[in-house]
Amino acid sequence: MESTFFLAQFGYCLSTSIKKNKFMQVINHCKGLPASFENMNYGVVVHRNFTILDADEGYLKYLGFTCREELQKLTSLLDLIHPSDHQQAQENYRKLMTGELAPSVQIFQNLTANHDLNTVMTLEHIIDFDGEKALQVTVIDISEHVENQKRLLETEERYKELVEGSLQAMLVHDNFKPVFCNQAYAELIGLNSIDEVFQLDSILSLIPIEDQENAIQEYTDLIEGKIESTKYDARGYNSSGDTIWVDVFGKRIRWDGKAVVQVSFMDITEQHLLREQIRFRATYDGLTKVLNRTSISEQAENLIKLSNASKTSLACLLLDIDDFKWINDTYGHGCGDKVLVEFTQFCQKSLRGSDLFGRWGGEEFLIILPDTTADNAMRLANRIRENTANLVINIKGHKEPIHFTVSMGLALLCPNEKNLQSLVSKADKGLYVAKGSGKNQVIYHSD
Ligand code: GH3
Ligand code: MG
Ligand code: MG
Repeated sequence: MESTFFLAQFGYCLSTSIKKNKFMQVINHCKGLPASFENMNYGVVVHRNFTILDADEGYLKYLGFTCREELQKLTSLLDLIHPSDHQQAQENYRKLMTGELAPSVQIFQNLTANHDLNTVMTLEHIIDFDGEKALQVTVIDISEHVENQKRLLETEERYKELVEGSLQAMLVHDNFKPVFCNQAYAELIGLNSIDEVFQLDSILSLIPIEDQENAIQEYTDLIEGKIESTKYDARGYNSSGDTIWVDVFGKRIRWDGKAVVQVSFMDITEQHLLREQIRFRATYDGLTKVLNRTSISEQAENLIKLSNASKTSLACLLLDIDDFKWINDTYGHGCGDKVLVEFTQFCQKSLRGSDLFGRWGGEEFLIILPDTTADNAMRLANRIRENTANLVINIKGHKEPIHFTVSMGLALLCPNEKNLQSLVSKADKGLYVAKGSGKNQVIYHSD
């Protein structure tokens, strides 16, 4: 419909000696061409079987001729058409003149006066010239447009190659429905091919449920331009439901005329697990997996501050397994380790979530009880002590199970006491007394 209109208008323009404004209006209807032709070269030439009869100023200018005589020196208009297009041009002429072909828009490779190659769009019109039929051809130089299109295509191809070959996973999604991705993205989420990604209705299921609301909000903010881009580390799932960690960078782009979101991902699962491992090792004791001395000290200092600020009582228990050396010597170091692990697991079960429990060193442990009076701490300590004495630890290859006891020193944080060190040294004094007076007991060292 559009092209019929275009041709009709185009023909009209030629037969009315080319009025520039109207001509522009018509040209601008041609789909895929630049919105404005103001700066493009165009002109009209009249020929009969490629013998040039007339041409306008525009045609001379476009070809780089200074006067009409220069042009008329040419033996044939074919000299201005690239040899590869001669056959098409001659065939076209014959068919038009015999009425076999209706005028249509054609593309040719032309040569200028300086032998420069350019691309033109032409439209022919049969006219009467000096009483005989001749062909009037309007030529528009579209070389620049063709070059731009070629460059754009090359840029697109280069970009496509870059993205597709990238190790960085890339996804473009329209409200979580994939519209583009590369192979690296398919592999990141555990799929074999890009096609399998497109079979997903939504990638929202790859985001943990608790993070989905945020993800939707962020998508809306990006689309509405409230935020420029997003960058963060996030937890996600692959298509098999395994947890993965990704570094996410999202931004809004236009895709087929619509605002969508492009996200690039770096798989940081290994780094994340390594970081977690390092953090765990720095925080917990390798054997018993309870807080190590550094961590319990740090956390205890914080509880002391809170307790001082809120003027609540805080109790401290220092525990030491009795005759542990004898266990090692009798059953072996490995059995000693087993005793330590089982003892810590059992102690943890007696504590509240707000209590701290950590390994102070060797077979010594520290318990911090916030918001606890001396009486309550004593009751808890004796319960742990009695239950420890009743613990039975079976050892492979030994008929008799291991029985052992624990001694404890108990201390309470004083109102003017500011640090853990003095609190622990009071508990240690209690422990010392407990050890010296028969073991398997809890001694409260009061101020
Ligand atoms: P007491 O009743 O006076 O506390 O005597 P004890 O034998 O428990 O105390 P002592 O300080 O004489 O011995 C503690 C032993 O604990 C010595 C040390 O080799 C052992 N030990 C320290 N850490 C570990 C460990 O991680 N695993 C094992 N199996 N033994 C350990
Ligand atoms: Mg000890
Ligand atoms: Mg001991």
